[in-house]
Amino acid sequence: MVKKVVSFALALAMAGALMTGCWGKDDSSSSSSSKPSSSAAPSSSSSSGSSMPGGSSAPGGDDSGMMPGEGDSSSMAGGSSSMGPSGDSSSSASASASAKPAAAQVDGDWQTRLVNGSHPLPEDFSVETVSVEHYDDRLFDARAVGHLNDMMKGAADAGLPLYLVSTYRSVKRQTALFNRKVNYYLDQGCDAETARREAAKWVAAPGTSEHNLGLAADLVSAKWYSSHDDLTEEFEQTPEFEWLAAHCAEYGFILRYPKGKTEVTGVSYEPWHYRYVGVEAAKHLTENGLCLEEL
Ligand SMILES: [Zn+2]
Repeated sequence: MVKKVVSFALALAMAGALMTGCWGKDDSSSSSSSKPSSSAAPSSSSSSGSSMPGGSSAPGGDDSGMMPGEGDSSSMAGGSSSMGPSGDSSSSASASASAKPAAAQVDGDWQTRLVNGSHPLPEDFSVETVSVEHYDDRLFDARAVGHLNDMMKGAADAGLPLYLVSTYRSVKRQTALFNRKVNYYLDQGCDAETARREAAKWVAAPGTSEHNLGLAADLVSAKWYSSHDDLTEEFEQTPEFEWLAAHCAEYGFILRYPKGKTEVTGVSYEPWHYRYVGVEAAKHLTENGLCLEEL
């Protein structure tokens, strides 16, 4: 049943804008109710620029903070990021249902499909999504949502409940958010190229965020989230992070933007961003200290 057509047509125009992974919070999340509002900065567009908390201009982030709108990355502390990763993989969709080969790649290309600044999803990318358990407004790839549900259950059973900040965001939605940011810079007097470049520092260009793929989840501890209004590296100091780091691969997830891999991923360290790649690939990557670009 859950088969999706995942066409691959790398071309996407967004040329210059390669960078960052996911930006800002998932739309869904923003509207979501569940969380205390992230009041701050309602609309991304405005201000963002440098005014953001973390200030730095570090692009890259994949996701965002909990602030509705803004690019997230910024919030991130760390790193400076750069951009332009590499590597790739492809696309197709067929997942071999039952067979469970051991090799990472045999898991099915859809699971390990690389999405980043230089490997954007096509504008017409679509994927079948369903709601994550207990989060009606957070969607995830229907083929992998069970793994996410199980992981969150596993953490809760261990006494470390997680809070799902953000999941799927359509390319269309990403485009709208990106364009809004571009327009903001155009209004500031920037020329088109500069406006796109600046916008890309805060909002991932359409199709370049893993959240557009439907296989990425931003997770923090419920407890930590109640006292922080942005996603920051400090999350790594929590027992929930330790649990995720130790167990996510068992559920087919990887810490997508690890410390020390910024040059390869093009995205700063994000202890909250987890990507489903399938159990085999997750274990392979984790055990060998590799990131998805190195698969
Ligand atoms: Zn993310």
